[in-house]
Amino acid sequence: MSGPRVGVLALQGDTREHLAALREAGAEAVTVRRLSELDSVDGLVIPGGESTAMTHLLQAFELLEPLRARLADGMPAYGSCAGMILLASEILDAGTAGREALPLGGIDMTVRRNAFGRQVDSFEGDLDFSGVDTPVHAVFIRAPWVERVGESVEVLARADDHIVAVRQGKVLATAFHPEMTGDRRVHKLFVDLL
Ligand code: GLN
Repeated sequence: MSGPRVGVLALQGDTREHLAALREAGAEAVTVRRLSELDSVDGLVIPGGESTAMTHLLQAFELLEPLRARLADGMPAYGSCAGMILLASEILDAGTAGREALPLGGIDMTVRRNAFGRQVDSFEGDLDFSGVDTPVHAVFIRAPWVERVGESVEVLARADDHIVAVRQGKVLATAFHPEMTGDRRVHKLFVDLL
């Protein structure tokens, strides 16, 4: 028996690592680049990369509004880093004119883009993560942080008092990149939500 069918948005970013992590977490993982592929999945991972470039490509591939509609319809999703930015309901420091990152509104939260990046470009650390029994090793690369969460949003992890992992219903987001470590527990948490 195969697990849930999970798509990885494959327009830009670290797609391959998420596909591997999802398979190891028990899902059937496929790439999503077109509408028919989006329609075929039970849930979607939005990878890290560049949120303005990803927005631009979502528009070019005519996926932005269909994706917004699937999320409004309750599709489970997991966004890491740039993916967290896109899943927000509000983005601070969204980007340069004309190619701004557009929020998809999957989670009621305000995310500041490149927030840690203004202090230090990338760093790693071990974080307590709600729902995971021992600390998760987290890799941050020009990462965002969450500045506001709505009432129905659960905070899963913090780094230096900043919120870096959240869940609202079946939508999960992390400011860091669990796909880059060998640890599959965050992906497993998402696959188990499906
Ligand atoms: N800073 C990037 C952005 O704004 C995100 C970085 C990442 O995904 N590693 O999209």
